Amino acid sequence: MRLHPDVIEQVRQRLQIVDLFEPASLRRVGGEFLTRCPWHEDRRPSLSLNPSKNLAYCHVCARGTDAIGWWMEQQGLSFQEAVLQLAERLGIAAEPFDAADQARLQQEMAERKRLYALRQTQRQTFAERLWRSEGAAALAYLQGRGLTPQTIRDWQLGWNGERVMVPLNDPQGRTVAFSGRLLNHQNGQPGGAPKYRNSRNDLLYQKSQLLFGLDRAREGDQPQPAGGAGGGAVRCDPPRPGGSQQRSGGVGLQPHSLDAPAVAAAVPHRAAAALF
Ligand SMILES: [Zn+2]
Repeated sequence: MRLHPDVIEQVRQRLQIVDLFEPASLRRVGGEFLTRCPWHEDRRPSLSLNPSKNLAYCHVCARGTDAIGWWMEQQGLSFQEAVLQLAERLGIAAEPFDAADQARLQQEMAERKRLYALRQTQRQTFAERLWRSEGAAALAYLQGRGLTPQTIRDWQLGWNGERVMVPLNDPQGRTVAFSGRLLNHQNGQPGGAPKYRNSRNDLLYQKSQLLFGLDRAREGDQPQPAGGAGGGAVRCDPPRPGGSQQRSGGVGLQPHSLDAPAVAAAVPHRAAAALF
């Protein structure tokens, strides 16, 4: 399945990023518009939309995106899906798709929706189990590692009866996968269950693309290039003992792999090290 470059170009030229926002959510300031930034806990509108550059940029997050990137992120779409939807919205014919491609795309979108709902239910169930008596040992383990109840709740940590479950969220905070850590694991146990287990790759979860904690990116993170087909990745802080919101100046996670040992290696923070 391939999008004709002309379609992408037409969408780029005709799509106004401002049109992707509810007019009531926008405040005009000079030649720009301000709205709440979804990338940080924004108490005043910090996301600035520049109609002439057709870009959104948050100075607090030092992060920006173009119109297609914004739509991808907000809708949880691939680049192709986003362009296709936007083309339709703009009345641009996206001819190169044949009927089979269209059908497959629709199927994928339906499957994606189903998976989002499933992961959300799983996350709630795991979190509830952690706080019931069956999760007592896991809860004690997490608290013993310095995580406060608030941090545990904030990070929606859970228990599946075998493993501590850490939800892996997309930039919108939707859970797309889990990383599970075996509670009582003896290193070097022959033939034993692996200490860490992440969800399998599926339509929502692609290890190479998702960055752990992306939805919790903190203020003061490093500037990133404007979002494009790959979506802009940001640095983030993992949960910390005490649930502190302060930046510690630690090393951010890099969007290469979500394998738990790699996460642990990339993040020297005590809390993350405690978890993994
Ligand atoms: Zn921001």
